[in-house]
Amino acid sequence: MARYKGAVCRLCRREGMKLFLKGAKCFTDKCPVEKRNFAPGQHGKDRKAKVVGYGLQLREKQKTKRMYFTLENQFRNYFEKAARKPGVTGELLLQQLERRLDNVVYRLGFATSRRQSRQIVRHGHIDVNGRRVNIPSFQVSAGDEIQVRDKAKKFTVIEGARDYSSHQPVVGWLEVDRDNLKGRVLSLPKREDINAPVNEQLIVELYSK
Ligand code: SF4
Repeated sequence: MARYKGAVCRLCRREGMKLFLKGAKCFTDKCPVEKRNFAPGQHGKDRKAKVVGYGLQLREKQKTKRMYFTLENQFRNYFEKAARKPGVTGELLLQQLERRLDNVVYRLGFATSRRQSRQIVRHGHIDVNGRRVNIPSFQVSAGDEIQVRDKAKKFTVIEGARDYSSHQPVVGWLEVDRDNLKGRVLSLPKREDINAPVNEQLIVELYSK
């Protein structure tokens, strides 16, 4: 399965904002966006022109794709699926991203970043409705039960993430039982449930050209 293997902090610096791909480090002053908030590379500091039009749409798409840690083809497929369905395309696009199993594990607080949750899922530590699912892009549905498998419950990364997220509220479309490291999908997320700093309309405009 293809995945991004480069330095992730470069992605945040390129977008000029924190995408929270490294867990706890993102909240410290070691975060490179805090120290060097300009694009990476030799000419990074020179990129000062205001981005408008196509550039703005492109950056919004890149930012969203990177935030959810997906690659171009997969992201484009999400858009095409959303465009075929009745409803608001931008909202349906974000809904599919939110319904990814790796995102749900992150939202439940069993991982400190989507990147980490992707690895937890890939390594087979998550059950959905009592069956092991190791596909990060698996789409959860309303009523699904997501649980960390017994063997993984004592893993330092998972216990650490649970402690780390214990003081944060869980999103409204999910229910969490932190003591037993399990959660449930109450309903599919609507736009107002998704607190991602994304202007999805720009992505729709980009792909509709
Ligand atoms: Fe992005 Fe986190 Fe790296 Fe900061 S520490 S640049 S927020 S991945």
